[in-house]
Amino acid sequence: MDAKSVSALKRIVGSRDVLLDAAALAGYARTACRVGPRGYRYRTYAPSLVVRPESTEEVSRVVAFARLKRIPVYVESGGTDTVGGSAPVKRGLMVDMRKMNKVLELSEESMFVTVQAGAGLQELEDLLRGHRLTHGHRPASFQQASVAGSISHYGVGGESPGFGLLADNVLGMAAVLPDGQVLRVRGVNKSSMGEKNLMWLLMGAQGEHGIITEVTLKLHPHIEGNRRLMMFGFDTFRRAMEASLSLAREGFRPTHQSATTKASLQRFVPSLAELAGTEGILSLILDGPRLSMVEAQIQELELACREMGGRPVPAPTVVEWRDHRSARVLERTLDRRSEFSVWTSFLKAQDFLAFPDEAGRMCEAHGASLAGVAFNSHPWTMILRVSAKGLSQARAGRCMYEILSRALEMGGTADAFHGPALASSYLAEPELGACGLETLRKVKRALDPAGVMNPGKAWASRP
Ligand SMILES: Cc1cc2nc3c(=O)[nH]c(=O)nc-3n(C[C@H](O)[C@H](O)[C@H](O)COP(=O)(O)OP(=O)(O)OC[C@H]3O[C@@H](n4cnc5c(N)ncnc54)[C@H](O)[C@@H]3O)c2cc1C
Repeated sequence: MDAKSVSALKRIVGSRDVLLDAAALAGYARTACRVGPRGYRYRTYAPSLVVRPESTEEVSRVVAFARLKRIPVYVESGGTDTVGGSAPVKRGLMVDMRKMNKVLELSEESMFVTVQAGAGLQELEDLLRGHRLTHGHRPASFQQASVAGSISHYGVGGESPGFGLLADNVLGMAAVLPDGQVLRVRGVNKSSMGEKNLMWLLMGAQGEHGIITEVTLKLHPHIEGNRRLMMFGFDTFRRAMEASLSLAREGFRPTHQSATTKASLQRFVPSLAELAGTEGILSLILDGPRLSMVEAQIQELELACREMGGRPVPAPTVVEWRDHRSARVLERTLDRRSEFSVWTSFLKAQDFLAFPDEAGRMCEAHGASLAGVAFNSHPWTMILRVSAKGLSQARAGRCMYEILSRALEMGGTADAFHGPALASSYLAEPELGACGLETLRKVKRALDPAGVMNPGKAWASRP
């Protein structure tokens, strides 16, 4: 980047908030993954420069300047993205939103909060709990992820069964579009003019259509003292999953509901190893405005789970699980050299029940194995963890590609393996259809004709 551009950016955000030295830039190097029929490839990219704005106005001026000079713009807020959403594949400048982390307005009475986009999920939650409120978003990256980064991926978390996706709780936002203009969608519950639809140009867009700078979130009541955790052991994972589906069908709506293979949870809850004859675990969290209501639900759930063959897991193990959930450590659990995970979602219950066995057979055919499976309810999603120890990257890639393609054939999604931010995904077209893919490309071209936001990705046919 030329000296004049650097000086111009320093005038916008201040000298201290323009980072240029190699050590600082290395801290922003991010890895992008490409998945294709011949394998998958991870490559790491660092930006040429980082800016750290503090206001919507500064972001707007940075983006307008970058557009004028045709400088590629990338954005990150928490930096926990695992698919390369913010990877600066064309170098250019990275907008680091971490300094934009302030709470602008909190209303206990009306149950909303307006924050700057880089507000951390955990810091915000700590504040809200003091007001008996929660934003309700609890991904495994909770300790480091931000509000804007989460809604840029929709925001599915461990407590989505109770509180919904974070994106579902967005009431309003401010965002800087690729030409530098500021789009403001008012924080109201309902709009008569369709302005809420404008927010969906930004949510789930992984930084392709602009930079979200402020967000108004709907909040939920929460009393920490009323929270209860339960776990049930089942003979097989399939039985745990069937129980989970059955509870959903009956209309139980716990805050968290997840069926997992014992092996996958045991990494975090070692005492599960002592449960003989148990292969599947159903984990539940319950909340409510009155303890008596929570306890009544516990009794009903216990009855229902016992009828389906579930056995309550001993209290010390449940405490171990609770402590693991609240541990303030961000664990990057995948060892990329020998493991990968596949996220998928189907419409039909029978597809969820069938998929782990199918995926297991495909793994075996490639010399890999299923190290763990988790099935989360509301929204129904499945995460398969595959161990590819000893396999070449090309072989592991083919295995991943086949599993994902099978999920698509069955009418499911290859969620997290493509998205606007992923370079040259071979999986986008089978999932979206040619018309769907072209429509998304048209939206991108209309909003960002100069192609400055997150270039090198956006459903690109070439990286
Ligand atoms: C250990 C681990 C566990 C995880 N568990 C989960 C999970 O349970 N559920 C889940 O959904 N994800 C999970 N993730 C993935 C990731 O943490 C989430 O998607 C997270 O919400 C991203 O938030 P972030 O603030 O770190 O985003 P970032 O990494 O900063 O960005 C994510 C994407 O959003 C874009 N973006 C960032 N800020 C803005 C902005 N202000 N405006 C517009 N676009 C922006 C970026 O360009 C990028 O494409 C996990 C990741 C890790 C490492």
